[in-house]
Amino acid sequence: MSADSIASLVARALHHGAAGMEKGDPAVPPIVPASVYYLPGEATGPYQYGRWSNPTWSALEAALSVLEDAETLVFPSGMAAIAAICYSQLRSGDRILLPADGYYTTRAFAERFLSPLGVAVELCPTASLDGQTFEGFRLVWIETPSNPGLDLCRIETVAAKARRAGALVVADNTTATPLGQRPLELGVDAVMSSDTKTVGGHSDVLLGHVASRNTALMASLRDWRNLTGAIPGPFEAWLVHRGLESLELRYDRMCANAQRIAERLSKHKAIANVRYPGLAFDPAHAIAAAQMLRFGQLIGVTFASKTAADRFIEEAAFILPATSFGGVQTSAERRARWGDLVPEGFVRLSVGCEPLEALWAEMKRVLDRLA
Ligand code: PLP
Repeated sequence: MSADSIASLVARALHHGAAGMEKGDPAVPPIVPASVYYLPGEATGPYQYGRWSNPTWSALEAALSVLEDAETLVFPSGMAAIAAICYSQLRSGDRILLPADGYYTTRAFAERFLSPLGVAVELCPTASLDGQTFEGFRLVWIETPSNPGLDLCRIETVAAKARRAGALVVADNTTATPLGQRPLELGVDAVMSSDTKTVGGHSDVLLGHVASRNTALMASLRDWRNLTGAIPGPFEAWLVHRGLESLELRYDRMCANAQRIAERLSKHKAIANVRYPGLAFDPAHAIAAAQMLRFGQLIGVTFASKTAADRFIEEAAFILPATSFGGVQTSAERRARWGDLVPEGFVRLSVGCEPLEALWAEMKRVLDRLA
């Protein structure tokens, strides 16, 4: 999709509420906490019971649908969206392929809860997916760039091969956002996103969404949500709707900051290795340049030791030590502390919206002491 088309989606998403507005209507969606709606006579109309539908979710889903250019459903967290896809689509005897180097909770969920139901869970590193064959898989899950290692796969290649083999292909697009990468246009069946991260963007809400042009899949996910009650709260939906309004501005600043910081980090002698898809010498750069619209806000920074990594995170004033990413504040953590297969000194740095030079001056002050 061209930059102009994305710009038009962003503008349309910002104004999505205008359709059908009447004089005196609020300019922002109301937070509707109702569990019960006025429902005399036959049960008709869009709002009948709070577990089935809610006007504040509808507002967020409408905005996200414009941005994703596909029907969208919201869930109470990214993991709830992942669970909804897996539980609604998989049956005993199915095989699922997960990224060996993606978000570890997705694997933990599959191993702890899908395996005992008779689903065979298999793993493949993201960087090896392009050469993989997918015969016999019911679901192929991709996460590119992967969290935390920032490896990439060619979405179009993997999606085409996996779909030819009869698999459903889902892309976790959390690290890239709909502004950084358009997996649906590259052929996947569905995208999911943890909007807890960049889409919500203010480190104050958990939420997830799934978007797809496959109407049967979306109907099945909607049924799953209705029947299991895995629903978001209206206030949470409202917070994400509000966050979404500044997504483009925030993402623009984060990506621009991240590019400059990755370039500077890669030249600093206190650092052993830097991974960032936007660096010309990054092993994934060629794929990134071909399929990403922006290179994102995440940088993988490897220090020679755990101590140096911890000092970088804890001594730089404008780095929040935290286990999440995509917020307006720059944050970082050493991923080995969760058991990710990365070196002890590997730091996942999520670059925020601070003014670049103020942020870099703090990082450089600490790095110079570590060199
Ligand atoms: N997918 C990725 C790539 C993530 O990084 C995360 C959380 O860190 C999730 C999914 C799960 O999202 P949530 O924490 O909103 O459940």
